[in-house]
Amino acid sequence: MGNLRPRARHRGDDEIHDAARQADAIASPIGLRAEPLGKNSGARGPAARMVAMRPAGIAAVVIASLASLMIAPYARASSTKPVCLRALDDLGVRYDRVDREGIELGVRVRGDIGGVEYAAYHDADLVLDCSLVYSLARAGAVLRAHGIERATYSSAYDRRNIRGSNRPSSHSFGLAIDVHEYDGDRPGLLRVEDDYEQGLGSDEDCLGRPLTEGGAILRSVHCRLEHSELFRFILSPDFDAHHFNHFHIEAEPWSEREDVR
Ligand SMILES: [Zn+2]
Repeated sequence: MGNLRPRARHRGDDEIHDAARQADAIASPIGLRAEPLGKNSGARGPAARMVAMRPAGIAAVVIASLASLMIAPYARASSTKPVCLRALDDLGVRYDRVDREGIELGVRVRGDIGGVEYAAYHDADLVLDCSLVYSLARAGAVLRAHGIERATYSSAYDRRNIRGSNRPSSHSFGLAIDVHEYDGDRPGLLRVEDDYEQGLGSDEDCLGRPLTEGGAILRSVHCRLEHSELFRFILSPDFDAHHFNHFHIEAEPWSEREDVR
């Protein structure tokens, strides 16, 4: 009974299921698959310019444009600023550059990330690797589609080993964050421990058939982030007993990412 919250009893299973699917549809243009940033930025330009140009200039423009499309979007500018930081700038993330042991490119986040505020249980600055901040910023659209405005986390950057092993956790590199709660006026407070319904979904239907509205939202968030290619993986209460109360959200190091090439 722990998962059956009072508000869910007023709604049928199918209704909840449909509501989650609608939210998925809203989020899908950005959330389901991370399109390379700037992918189309060079595609419209040449055609538009060709109309106004003499034939002699057209070949040069086409060649230059094709060349620009072959280069990673953030590698074009001549700035010496790291590519990931420029990506944060473009996404409107405010941050300070900081150095921390183990973090490749450390940033201290100031303000929201992709329209979602991240707050710690204990009062501390949020320091992460730029790569994870970039992914969270892109994932903001998925969360906001469900009305989520705030996330509460326990562990972010933390020099420690994976529990029960002598291998360093991704938290040691600032590449993981443990989110316990999502909150917003529309969905209300959603706690992974109380609202996430375990054992749902399959390869064909990630969402499954959640019984509660909160369960449907958390399941939908998990599915969309997991399939977005923005993250290495999202560990949920389904993964093991250690994750009974949070999502462990982990990104690849920037240099190993395929989605930003
Ligand atoms: Zn974790």
